[in-house]
Order: sequence, then C-alpha cells, then structure tokens
Amino acid sequence: MEPREFNRILRQVLILPIAALLLLAVTLYLQIQGANQTVKLIQQSDDRITEATVAGKLIVDEESALRGYQTTTDARFLQPYLDAQPRLQAQFMALERVPGADELQKSRLQDLRESHQTWHDGFAEPVIAAIRSGGRPPDVELNLHGKVLMDTIRDDLNEVVHEAQEHRKTRIERWRQQVHRTILGLFAFALIFGIAIGLFVRSRMHRVSSVYSQYLEILNRRAEDLFQSEEQLRTTLSSIGDGVITCDLEGRVLLMNPVAEELTGWTQEMAGGKSLEQVFQILDEGTREPVENPITLVKRLNKPVGLTNHTVLRRRDGSKVSISDSGAPIRDRHGAMMGFVLVFRDNTMERRTQEALLANEKLVVAGRLAATIAHEIHNPLDSVSNLLYLMRTGASPEESALFMTLAEQELARVTQISRAMLGLYRESKTPVRVDLAEMLKEILLLLEHRLTELGVTVRTELPAGVYVEGFPSELRQVFTNLITNAGEASNPGGQVSVSIVPGEVSLEPGSSRMEHGATVRIADNGSGIPEEVQPQIFQPFFTTKGEHGTGLGLWVSQGIVTKHGGTISVESCSDGEQHGTVVSVFLATKQILELGTGSRG
Ligand code: ADP
Ligand code: MG
Repeated sequence: MEPREFNRILRQVLILPIAALLLLAVTLYLQIQGANQTVKLIQQSDDRITEATVAGKLIVDEESALRGYQTTTDARFLQPYLDAQPRLQAQFMALERVPGADELQKSRLQDLRESHQTWHDGFAEPVIAAIRSGGRPPDVELNLHGKVLMDTIRDDLNEVVHEAQEHRKTRIERWRQQVHRTILGLFAFALIFGIAIGLFVRSRMHRVSSVYSQYLEILNRRAEDLFQSEEQLRTTLSSIGDGVITCDLEGRVLLMNPVAEELTGWTQEMAGGKSLEQVFQILDEGTREPVENPITLVKRLNKPVGLTNHTVLRRRDGSKVSISDSGAPIRDRHGAMMGFVLVFRDNTMERRTQEALLANEKLVVAGRLAATIAHEIHNPLDSVSNLLYLMRTGASPEESALFMTLAEQELARVTQISRAMLGLYRESKTPVRVDLAEMLKEILLLLEHRLTELGVTVRTELPAGVYVEGFPSELRQVFTNLITNAGEASNPGGQVSVSIVPGEVSLEPGSSRMEHGATVRIADNGSGIPEEVQPQIFQPFFTTKGEHGTGLGLWVSQGIVTKHGGTISVESCSDGEQHGTVVSVFLATKQILELGTGSRG
C-alpha cells in the first residue's frame, strides 16, 4: 500500500466520527432549543394561573368586605373593598399582559372583566350607595342578583384558571415528549452511528491489516532469502581452498574463513576487530622486509589488486609460509567503498613444483648441450694431443714454441667452454652486475656447434658495456632457450640475429615512468608461430616439437624475466615472404652505476 493511501484511510477513520459527532451536536442543540421553548410556555401558564389566583383572592376580599359593610354599615368594613379596587384593575392588566394567550383565553379574560364590572356596577355600587344614604340594606331580591353575578365571576375565574391549567398540562406533556424524543433520538443516533463507524473502521482496518500482513510476509521472505544467501556465502567461504579475510573501511578484521584461520594461526574470535596488519603480516621472500598490505594498496588505488608472488606470511607462532595474495574493495549499492576482501593461498607446493620443473628444464638444456660440448671439447683436446705428439717426435725449438702457442690457444678454448658450461650452473644468492655482451657471446660459443649442425648462421650486434642486474645462471638459461628456439625454427641456410639495444621503456602500459635498461632481441627468419598458437606458447608443456621438446623453455624464461622485473614479448609472422619471429627481452639496469665503461667482451 502506498503511504498516501494509508494516510487517506487514517483520515477517513478520523473524520467520519468527528462529522457524526458534529451532526449529533447540532441535532441536540435544536432539540434542547425546542424543549426550552416549551418550558417557557409552561412558565407562562404558571404565571397566568398565579395571576388569576391572586385576582380571585382580591375578588373574594372585595365581596367579604362588601358583606361586612352590608351587615354592619360601618364604613371601616368597606375599606378592604376600596383597597382591592385598584389592585384588582392592576391584576386584570397583569393577566392580560401574560404573553402567549390564545383567542379563547383572551375572550374568557374579557368575560371575567365584564362580569366583575357588571357585579361592581350592578350590585356593589348600588348597595354601597344605598347604605351611605342611610337607607336599609338592600333587599333579598338585590342580594340574590348579587349572588348570581358573583357566581358568574367565579365561573369565569375558574374558566381562566382551568384554561391555563389545561394549557400547562398539554405543554408539560409536550415537553416530556420532547425530552423523550431527544433521549430516544440520541440513543438511536448513537446506536446507528456506532455501528456505522464500527463497520467502516473495521473495513478500513481490514484493508490496512491485510496490507500489513502482506508486508510482513514480504519481510519474512526477504529475511529468509537473506538468511539463505548468508548461509550460502558462509558455506562457500568455509569450503573454498583459499584463505579469505574481510575487513571494514578502517582495516579491522570482520570475518575469516577456516583456511585463513589455519594459515595465519589466528582464530576468528581472536582476530575479530583487530587491525589487519597485526593478523596478516607479510614479508618479501627475498629481503624479508615487510611488504605493503594488499588492502592498503586497494585503498590507495581504489581497485582490485592481483596476485603478488614471492610473499611470505608470518604466522602467529612466528613460522613462515609462502603465499600469494590479492585484495579487492567491497562496495555498497552506490559504488562507495565499505570494506575489503583479502584472498590468499599457501603456494608452497606450487613453488616446489615450479622449482622442480625449473631444475628439470635446466637438466634438459644441459643434456641437449652435452653432445655439443663433448664435441667442442674433443676437437681442441685432439689438436693438443696432436701438437704434443709432434713436439715429442723431434720438432725444432722454433717449431716447439709455435706448437706450444697453438696448444695454449686450444686449451684456452677448452677453458672458455667449460667456464660457459659452469656459468649455466653457478648460482649466486644475490643479483649481480651482468655484462650482456659477454654473456651472450659465451652462450653462442656453447651453441655454435648445434647451430652449425642446423645449418644456421648467426649475426650479432653486441655493443660492449651494457650492464643489467640479475642472476647470471638464470639469464643464461633464458637466452640459451631463446637462441635454441630460433635455431630450431629456422630452415637450413636460415639466419639468427642476436642484438642488444640499450634504452628506456615504460613497463606499465600508459604510465609515464620510464625504466632504464636494455633489450635483447633474438630474431630468426624461420617458420614463425601461427596466430592461433601464439596465446599458448608461454604455457608449460606446450610444444610443437613432439618428443624433442619439453614445452618448458618459454614458460621458464618468462618466469625468470618477470622475477628480474623485466618483460618478454614475441612478435611473429608465419606466412608470406616475411615469416619469422622476434623475441624481445627487456631487463632493467636497476642500481648499476657505471654504464659503458670498460669492455670485457
Ligand atoms: P620447446 O622448445 O621445448 O618446444 P618452448 O617453450 O621453448 O618449448 O617453446 C614452445 C613452442 O613455441 C615451441 O614448441 C614452438 O612451437 C614455439 N616457438 C618458440 N620459439 C619459436 C620461434 N623462434 N619460432 C617459431 N616457433 C617458436
Ligand atoms: Mg625451447
């Protein structure tokens, strides 16, 4: 339900009772107004009855006084009669003034006044005049006449009172009915509106409550979905083989999966809330210096960072394990960073396998070279023994000196070959300064025989004094591989060219940072590498040479070059006139200070 509709219902539920109560109040007001009117009328009837009663009393006073005067002829008895005269006139006026008289009442009042006037003029005044003139009190005839007149007055008075009482009675009845009606109406009104409001509110509330239960259901379903997805996530996290740690924006550990617990030696309870630097301490494999945490890198670069090799994790107990790791930001719906996830794995086995393969490849290279080397060494040794034979079988001193020089030259060649051979094996622990031209010449010396066998000529362009930093035996392995590949790809009569181009390159695409160093280019005009094969040549065990190849050469070479911080790239064309391959290896000068001084080549 829309909030607007919800508000509308609330308004309806509130407004309806208020409107009903207002209506009720108006009706009640009108009813009470009517009842008040009736009460006022009753009041008038009461007034009329009271005034009539007072008038009746005055008439009685008048008559009594007249009788006393008639009996005694003493003027003092007449005084109440005289007093009542004006008061009675005032009383009649008052009676007339009482409002709300109908025509009948008015005519009764008129009758009363007239019959009193008749009594007064026709009986009372003549009697008083007769007594005053000293005559006899009036005769029976007159008295009877007086009595008849007084009876008429009484009748009229009774009529007036009676009329007023009747009016009062009907008005009281009307008032009662009004009150009764009001109460009844109130009751009916309350009943009907109560039911109506009840039904209305019920129907509205029904609607609200059905919507509310719909919402509840949706919420429940969402909670269930959330629970399920959390459960899935938990199961996934705990069953994957990589260590996973999630952190908040400040780099505090939130969650660790069991592999992460095992690799770091910290449990989730211990690590929760601690800083990642404390739980996940990583060092450079070579220098054993602390390495920047991938999370710090992610924070700085604001993007995922890939796997870094050659990293060692210091576990909680101080032991070390070789790992590779990567980090990525966790973002909210609007893309804002809200935390990080760190993924790492124990790559000890991987490293061992790589090392084994590397050693294997070295052996293969050496094995391949063994025959060549035997041949290379055999030839000068053969010459030496021939020269020695000649010297022993009586050569002149001049001849002996010449033979000696020749033998020495041949032995120097043997020494050279054996040194080149040793160079392939001699390991140094730290990187050293390598003279590229000298190294490439030694390699070409070793490969000379093999290349001659293949019918390939070699062209070199090896400027002296170009140095790079690195591990010589490893670099030798790289170039031996690449030159052998070039020779093997060439047809008899083909040409392999080996050249050194000193200069700068940018290692990261698009970056303006230039790295100083040299590029070794090994080019051939051989068969070339078909385009569909090119993506695979750096994969281990990929070879097109059947049992004559291992498919490890380029893979190992790439590994070594990358470890040296350099790059290796291949350009090749396998069809048309211009077929052939160029492999370029860039190596950085790094901290080599002197460049181009002294040639040892
Ligand atoms: P291998 O030499 O033992 O086959 P590599 O890793 O050295 O293994 O080379 C892999 C493959 O790459 C080779 O089998 C070959 O097909 C191709 N390849 C490498 N260098 C060249 C080249 N210079 N010309 C043509 N193909 C090449
Ligand atoms: Mg090879």
